[in-house]
Amino acid sequence: MTLVLDDVTLTYPDGDGRLTALDAVGLTVPAGTTTAVVGPSGSGKSSLLAVAATLVTPDRGRVLVAGTETRALGRAERAALRRREIGIVFQQPNLLPSLTALEQLQVMADMEGRRRHGADGDRARELLAAVGLSGQAHRRPHQLSGGQRQRVNIARALMNEPSVLLVDEPTSALDHERGAAVLDLLLCLTRERGTATVLVTHDRAHLAGVDAVREMTDGKLE
Ligand code: ADP
Ligand code: MG
Repeated sequence: MTLVLDDVTLTYPDGDGRLTALDAVGLTVPAGTTTAVVGPSGSGKSSLLAVAATLVTPDRGRVLVAGTETRALGRAERAALRRREIGIVFQQPNLLPSLTALEQLQVMADMEGRRRHGADGDRARELLAAVGLSGQAHRRPHQLSGGQRQRVNIARALMNEPSVLLVDEPTSALDHERGAAVLDLLLCLTRERGTATVLVTHDRAHLAGVDAVREMTDGKLE
């Protein structure tokens, strides 16, 4: 089991009281599978990803990433765990405008401090091929379509071979057909690379291939 959330409660300050964003949430995602979390805007989906990413510490409950209990970790240890084990795909690709598609991926290896002898270049090229962008390796973001930019974003998240992949509304900026293609790609990469993938979406379209669908309502996961 690569990602486990156990009885996780998260609140935010809200006027005089607290707003409960996650209410005793339990979620287990085995390696090589995709769990979709579906729910309306404001139901707590992004909060769930932030907790799973160890970016936010919950009020209560446990978060295990690749077998590591994260509560006791310090800031630097959490950051190291994130770099090593967690790939994050946000709604907006946030690519660096001046870098080519290939360089966007290589920057990840630089951050992990393991860029050496072109091994990262080979991996970056292999991942670009896996997302269908071999021919676009030397293009910058403005020379790519929205769907292609989202594919670079996904490839970049996989660069450090994470065991957990967290994806927030990846198709919201895409039309139906391109959205379906991006989701197919995610499901396929999840099986191929063995990641435990959480796919957050408010859109129930194209969820046919996912391994589990969980519904989020007012911070509760059905
Ligand atoms: P979703 O992704 O499903 O739209 P969110 O997790 O973003 O839901 O938000 C869940 C609830 O928590 C909402 O009521 C939202 O307004 C609130 N919320 C989210 N982030 C914060 C924050 N940093 N501070 C205070 N309230 C927040
Ligand atoms: Mg959200």
